[in-house]
Amino acid sequence: MNILFEKNTQDTVEKDLMAEIAKKIKELEGALKALRTGDEFHIPRADMPDTTDQAAATSAILDVIAHEKHLVEKLQQLRQLQQRLKEGDTSCTECGGEIEMCRLLASHATTCLECQEALEREAALRTPAAPVFSF
Ligand SMILES: [Zn+2]
Repeated sequence: MNILFEKNTQDTVEKDLMAEIAKKIKELEGALKALRTGDEFHIPRADMPDTTDQAAATSAILDVIAHEKHLVEKLQQLRQLQQRLKEGDTSCTECGGEIEMCRLLASHATTCLECQEALEREAALRTPAAPVFSF
């Protein structure tokens, strides 16, 4: 009975997660479409006489492009997670252990917390420490 209950809870959590992901994907797709069809996304017109205006417009466009890149990456992550959930494969890519549902949803993690921390420690070791200046 207990096992059955736990299984049902797990199913419900996964269903909620799937619904949440589908909703997020829809939101992101909408945001991306609005961004791409919006006026902000287009290259500043050459007839803009003032260089300050041009610089501002270029900077604004770079912001929009960065935002677009972020949305595209997020969409990709969500689609991958959706696929993994469909295939029932949400285990850690490092150790094969279980990834907490809240982690999956919050960060679309592909590793469990333990492996994530280990990977971050490794990455920190590979990155040379910032130079220390003494005067
Ligand atoms: Zn792991």
